Amino acid sequence: MSAFQRETVLSVRHWTDSLFSFTATRDPGFRFQNGQFAMIGLEVDGRPLLRAYSMASANHEEALEFFSIKVPDGALTSRLQKIREGDIILVGRKATGTLITGNLIPGKRLLLLSTGTGLAPFASLIKDPDIYECYDTIVLVHGCRHVSELAYGEQVVESLRQHELFGPLIEDKLIYYPTVTREPFRNRGRITDLIESGQLFSDIGLSGLDLETDRIMLCGSPSMLEELRAMFTARGFVEGSHSEPAHFVIEKAFVER
Ligand SMILES: Cc1cc2nc3c(=O)[nH]c(=O)nc-3n(C[C@H](O)[C@H](O)[C@H](O)COP(=O)(O)OP(=O)(O)OC[C@H]3O[C@@H](n4cnc5c(N)ncnc54)[C@H](O)[C@@H]3O)c2cc1C
Repeated sequence: MSAFQRETVLSVRHWTDSLFSFTATRDPGFRFQNGQFAMIGLEVDGRPLLRAYSMASANHEEALEFFSIKVPDGALTSRLQKIREGDIILVGRKATGTLITGNLIPGKRLLLLSTGTGLAPFASLIKDPDIYECYDTIVLVHGCRHVSELAYGEQVVESLRQHELFGPLIEDKLIYYPTVTREPFRNRGRITDLIESGQLFSDIGLSGLDLETDRIMLCGSPSMLEELRAMFTARGFVEGSHSEPAHFVIEKAFVER
């Protein structure tokens, strides 16, 4: 059996010059936990060209969804950005990753902190009914340089709010906090600064960071992750893993090559 499945692209939406999302068929045998990633890609010159991608869809959904960067000279995304409905993509059969609720010890508030395409695993997690059982409040923070880069996340949250079943479930529980660094917007600044200064918490009207009740998931650029890891560690938060659940977990949104 091949290590990947051939799936058919169902829809593609371009959000900016550098971001797009797409949906594809899902093999009924492909199982994953919300927040995980898999290897996906294209067949190029008869060979698979694969990269790690977080599922932005939830595991109860019939189709798969991905949120992607367009790297102009990127081996995969220079090609992937041209896919259209009906094209074939490759999806690895094995899903993995640390951004799963089982890697955190119980808490009351879940902070999902992302930059750029690091939003993708959280788009999956906020569609998981279980997290609304496990936590009183879920705060989704998405940091980008420009307002236009927030559009995909805004649409995911808005469609969840309009959803017949999820709407009432998330109404008092999901707080969405988009922030930009390079142009005027209602929320401005880097996630690290917004937490350090307490601005994030005063903006959403909640108490500050609390080791007893806060559990955190991080997904973003390598530098954002390093800064936040250092900040949380200095405040006594311990990084969790499959073998030892703890206060926070981290996944890189991409690797610098
Ligand atoms: C665990 C994991 C999950 C990932 N999930 C996603 C996802 O859901 N969506 C997604 O678009 N990418 C994701 N990536 C990145 C992805 O694997 C590829 O790097 C990306 O698709 C670009 O592939 P490429 O071959 O075109 O360029 P690459 O040769 O892979 O990358 C070239 C350069 O582009 C930059 N870059 C790559 N990916 C990104 C990105 N996402 N955001 C900003 N800069 C980037 C980096 O500087 C990198 O050195 C993930 C990576 C990891 C490790």
